[in-house]
Amino acid sequence: MDAAKQYLIDNGIKPSVQRIAIMLYLLEHRSHPTVDEIFNDLHKAIPTLSKTTVYNTLKVFAEKGAILSLTIDEKMVRFDGYKQRHAHFKCISCNEIYDVELDHDVEFPNNETTKDFENIETHVYHRGYCAKCAKKKETNNKLKSE
Ligand SMILES: [Zn+2]
Ligand SMILES: [Zn+2]
Repeated sequence: MDAAKQYLIDNGIKPSVQRIAIMLYLLEHRSHPTVDEIFNDLHKAIPTLSKTTVYNTLKVFAEKGAILSLTIDEKMVRFDGYKQRHAHFKCISCNEIYDVELDHDVEFPNNETTKDFENIETHVYHRGYCAKCAKKKETNNKLKSE
């Protein structure tokens, strides 16, 4: 609770009880939850919490740079409280979004096309089959060819 509160203060966000609960949820859940998932899990403990509040709170967090708002899933926006440099991998079979450690920094290009731009965020998205699904696919292919 205190860590989440301090984290909000550090990011220039006024720490209300509901905001602390949402931030804590994101710090504890590395699954890149959607607005619905966060709302469904939290409103049992906080009955006064509305989905609109969750939505607006996440918007404020993202604007202040406290969390990442991910558009890797074309069906719904997902949220990430893990702010260490990392990429995302979406499995097109099980739809899971995985954190991927990067081997090196992704530099913002410095050339004619970017010279007056101010880059704030860089997202690296990969799509494919996760280890589990790739293995399943391989097994299915083998069965088919037998
Ligand atoms: Zn998968
Ligand atoms: Zn992530």
